[in-house]
This record gives sequence, structure tokens and C-alpha cells, in this order.
Amino acid sequence: MTPEINQRVQELRQLLQKASYAYYVLDNPTMEDPVYDQLYRELQDLETQYPELIAPDSPTQRVGEKPASHFSSVRHNIPLYSLENAFNIEEFAKWQERWQRHLPQDFPLPIYVCELKIDGSALALTYQNGILVRGVTRGDGVTGEDITQNVRTIRSIPLRLNTDNPQPIVEVRGEAFLPIEVFEQINQERAKTGEQLLANPRNAAAGALRQLDSRLVAQRRLDFFAYTLHFTTEKSNPPTPHSQWESLKLLQKLGFRVNPNRQLCPSLEDVRNYYNNWDKERRNLPYMTDGVVVKLNSIELQEKLGFTQKFPRWAIALKYPAAEAPTLVLDITVQVGRTGALTPVAELKPVQLAGTTVSRATLHNSDRIRELDLHIGDTVIIRKAGEIIPEVVRVLPQLRPGNTQPFQMPAHCPVCNSPVKREAGEAVTRCINSSCPAILKGSLIHWASRDALDINGLGEKLVEQLVDRDLVKSVADLYSLTPEKLTALERMGKKSAEKILTAIAQSQNQPWSRVLYGLGIRHIGSVNAQTITQNFTTVEQLSKAKITEIEGIYGIGSEIAQSVWDWFQVEGNQTLIQRLREAGLQLAGEVKTTTESAHQPLTGKTFVITGTLPTLKRDEAKELIQKAGGKVTNSVSAKTDYLVVGEDPGSKLAKAEALGITQLSEETLLALIA
Ligand code: NAD
Repeated sequence: MTPEINQRVQELRQLLQKASYAYYVLDNPTMEDPVYDQLYRELQDLETQYPELIAPDSPTQRVGEKPASHFSSVRHNIPLYSLENAFNIEEFAKWQERWQRHLPQDFPLPIYVCELKIDGSALALTYQNGILVRGVTRGDGVTGEDITQNVRTIRSIPLRLNTDNPQPIVEVRGEAFLPIEVFEQINQERAKTGEQLLANPRNAAAGALRQLDSRLVAQRRLDFFAYTLHFTTEKSNPPTPHSQWESLKLLQKLGFRVNPNRQLCPSLEDVRNYYNNWDKERRNLPYMTDGVVVKLNSIELQEKLGFTQKFPRWAIALKYPAAEAPTLVLDITVQVGRTGALTPVAELKPVQLAGTTVSRATLHNSDRIRELDLHIGDTVIIRKAGEIIPEVVRVLPQLRPGNTQPFQMPAHCPVCNSPVKREAGEAVTRCINSSCPAILKGSLIHWASRDALDINGLGEKLVEQLVDRDLVKSVADLYSLTPEKLTALERMGKKSAEKILTAIAQSQNQPWSRVLYGLGIRHIGSVNAQTITQNFTTVEQLSKAKITEIEGIYGIGSEIAQSVWDWFQVEGNQTLIQRLREAGLQLAGEVKTTTESAHQPLTGKTFVITGTLPTLKRDEAKELIQKAGGKVTNSVSAKTDYLVVGEDPGSKLAKAEALGITQLSEETLLALIA
């Protein structure tokens, strides 16, 4: 064991202890749950590897925290254990193997009960002769706080059990929680009065339960799902349940609310389906869940397997994949894009995030790195939201190793070594050497991309070789490539060379709008390129246009107009146009006919398209809308008039719904144009 490992263990412990105190005692977490879970795992793994490091005060050695002050501490009748965690179905399978080892080899696989893991606060309720006499928080599992007064305010907890023949003592466990709607309402009210917002429904529920004034607790409208039932005597009426499934039914009979989304699962495959299904469906539930709890159904088997020091061996919490995770920054590299922009990228120790392995995250620019105060060697939290590339959210400075320096953006381009420049008022640092190989490679890839000249087979690897071997110094050089030049490249047979040359030759037929987009002028996306080429039908017209004329086009702003105008002022760009003309590229489009311009029913309207349309391709729909005078943009905003919706729509649909934007099917769109 090295001093570094010892140090990491100490630092992890301190960090987790602080987080755990903020979470359990103050009900005011300072760390995201998945981040806590993963750092906890790291500590646990280190302690397993180096058992000499285990200490009795390590967060891995206890459940929760000692109860907080103002209520009296009471001993639980039966200890409240925590649950072991699994973070995916493979870990669940390993857990299954582990408990199976405690049973004879030929023991048949018993049935599981799957329940939702409600993200609330555990309560232990005691009923004496059918009357609620005590409600206690989990605390550290051995002692909790007596909050009976507050528990009585929860409407879904019966004060008297629904039975004529009650047991002398009945112990019920379950989860008190705040419905999401109530949680959001409380936060809205707090925002109005300037109070600190509550972090999540779980801590809000725990906080509410610990209010000293039970009238305030009642106002919080807490709810409760029961999930465990203990009878103290064997001979009982109704009889003691033999399975978890029967217990849940009996709890319901006794007057408790029991979560209806439970399921008996006879195999691992069934558990997997239940877990995957609820990972998706949980967004439609009115309360928060953070995973599913899988328990062995047979009480006899549960008793046979018993408990470890902290967990039952017969149950596990299968948590949903995290959208946030901590990991190490191994290095920071700098990429140069086709506009010369230098983008710092964090090279990460690979980590599982929302179901995929992530090893890189964008850092945007040097301002962002400074804001984060990021050093190589730092532990950072990364996040993936929707389809967006993972990003670094924040640094955990407590886990920073000694002797690290803040990262500095290089003063020279990492590819061509020329000095880089950052314009006043811009966040981006750029390489301004127009013959920088990185810029050229980026430009070629953009030129060949689907929405530009769409040259099949001209990908990153081929572009690398063409540029590194000096075969191509501009996009125009693509059109003078020969079979001999191509077959001299690595892994390039005669057939592949011919295929690529055909694809390059075919790109000569692509319309003028695609050529303009392919040139990669800043701020010119494919939609803008189409709008501009509809108004300037030849490259001559556009190159001679005044800024005001370009700006006069509907939908084209001054920044775009300036960028186009600037581009044509550069002599090298004029030469490029001349060479593309000689190569046979389309630099003129169809002139708008008077009939077309007369029938423009969509003039002034802005459209966004999402999902797959039944008959039209995305480009075809775009073209139709534009021909009818409409504008097509990529993202939904308050300026969008219509969202055209196909099958499997993306997040744009939810945004459009939130903004109350009219939705069109392909059919209604065509009817509008006709
Ligand atoms: P846990 O919350 O992961 O699981 C055990 C709990 O699940 C039970 O006590 C019970 O309250 C609940 N539960 C919900 N539905 C259930 C059901 N159907 N059957 C049985 N139990 C059910 O474990 P824990 O020990 O309570 O808390 C540890 C977790 O708390 C960590 O994994 C972490 O996510 C979080 N935590 C976060 C921080 C932080 O700083 N963010 C700090 C400490 C702990």
C-alpha cells in the first residue's frame, strides 16, 4: 500500500463523512447521490483491497448517522438495516450467486418480489393492540428519533389497524415521501419568500418529519407506502404471512397504502425487464424513485439467509443508472477544429454514465477551465443530459493530489505550432494559420459531410492521410486526385479508390446551396445557405453583394451577413472559388420563377422538424417549406410557429408542448402548402 492510497482513503472518508452529515442530520445535501454512491464504492473497494486501512469510524462501517438533537432517541424494536446496492443487472447477478452459495447446490431458484425504491425517508411504526403508539425515524439503524406526533399527521398512516382481532404488537416499516408536485409547490413558495430551496423530495420529506411543530408537518402533505410487516407472536389471526407478497397484501388489508407497482419475478430475466421498464416509466410517477428493491419472497428463506453486519442477505437495491458521476482527469488535450478554434478536452478515467462508458468530456474554452479551477489529476463530477456530450460540472478540490498546477491554454497551436489568438470579447482561442493541417482536415471533413457535398467514403482516416502526405491542400484539390495517388495510400485497393473518385465526381452535381454550406463560412449552417442561395442565385452575385443587401434577406442577421461579406474579401477564397468553378462544381442555382415566388403561403412562418416523417425525408420537407416561403430552424424557441412531428420525436416535442407551439403532421403540412 502506497502513501498515495492511504491519503486517498483518508480524503474520501473526510469528504463522505461531511456529505453524510449534511444529508442525514441537516437534511441539506452538499453532493449528488450518484456521486456519493460512487465515491463510497471507491472507498469500499480500497478497504477490501487493503483491510489494514479499515477504521471503525469509516462511513462504510455504519448505517446513516446518529439521530439529530431535538427529539428523544429511542431504540428500535428490530434494527433497521440498510440495503446493499447494485448499479446494474450484472452486479445483481453477482449478488444472486453470492446468496446462492449459502444454500444447497440443487436448491431451486426461488421467486423474487420486485418493488419500487421510493426515494423518501424510512419510518418504523409500532401498533399496540391495533393502535399506533410509536413512529421512529431510521437514524443509525439501532436508535432513531421518536417523531410519533408528526407521524400522526400523515393521512395514509392508519392510527388504528383495520382488524377486529389485533396482535399485541405489530411493527410496520415503510417510506414517508413527498409527492413531486407538493415538493415543487413548496420550492416555488420558498423562492417567492427568498428562502433556500429544498434539494430533493427525499431530504424535504426527512426535514418535514423533523419539524418541531406538527401543524407544519401536516401542511407538508407527506404520504406513506408500507413495505414490511412484523408480527411478534407466531400464532396470530390473521396468520403470519409466509411471503413478502402476502405481507404486502395483508398490509393493504390492515389499512396501509402499498405501492401497486410490485411484481413477482421468477427469474433474473424478469427482474431485468422490471428494472428496465421502471427506469423508463418512473418519469410518469407522481413521486421520486431511485431504483427498485428486489427481495426473496419466501420468509423462511429470508430467515435462513439472515443478515450481514449492515444488510439483509435476501434483498438488494438495484439503482438506476446515474446521469452524474465522479472520475479522474488523467490529462487535458487541446483539439483544433475547422474554424481554428482550440477546444480543451478532459481525458478521463473511463466511467459508466447513463448506460455508456465515458472517457472524454468537453471543457469548452479556457474561461470555463478557469471557472472550474481545474488541474490535471483532479477528481471531477461529469454529467450527461439528454443527447448532449458529457461535460465537467465541478471539481472536488478536497480530493486534489499535491503538486498540481492549474491548466493553461497553450500559446501555440498544438498542431502547426503557430501563435494562437484570442479576439477581445471572445471566449474562443483560435489558430489563425489558414494552412494549419488541423483546419484543413476539419474543412475537408465538413465539405464531405452529409448535408454539404455528401461524399461517401471520405472520412476522417482518409482525410488524415491525404493531408499528412500533402496530396490535398484545399478542398479544390480533391477534384484532381487520381487512382494512382489514392492507391499509394494505406489500406486502399483499386476498387475502393475508384469508389471514392466516383463519389467525389458525383459531388459536382450537388446544388449551389450545398457548395456554399460546404465552404464552412462561420455562422452559415445548411438552412442559412439555402436561404442565401435562393436570393443570390450565382456566386458572382453573392461575392459582389453589399452587406446591407445580404442582411436584407428575411431570416439573415447582421452577424451572418458580415461573415459572408468578410469571407469573399479574402483573396485566397476568391482563388478557391475560381478553382472550384474549373473543377465543375455548381456555383449557380435555379432562378426563382415568378409562379413559385407568387405562391408562398408559408412566408414569415418558422418551422422546426422532429422525428421521422412518413414519406418525406428531412431535407425534402425542409426544401418544400422553404419553397413555400417558410423558414426552417434547428431548435424550438418562442419564435417557432410550427413543429412538424414525425415518428420517434426528440426532446423538441416536449419543449414545443411547454411553449404551446402548434404541431403539424406531414399531412397537415402538405395541406398548408397546397
Ligand atoms: P438506500 O436509501 O440506498 O436504501 C435503503 C432504504 O431504501 C431503506 O432504508 C428504505 O428507506 C428505502 N426503501 C425505499 N423503498 C423500499 C422498499 N420497497 N423496500 C425496502 N426499502 C425501501 O440506503 P440508505 O442507507 O438509506 O442511504 C444510503 C444512500 O443515501 C446512498 O446510496 C446515497 O445515495 C444517499 N446518501 C447521499 C449522500 C449525499 O451527500 N448525497 C450522503 C449520504 C447518503
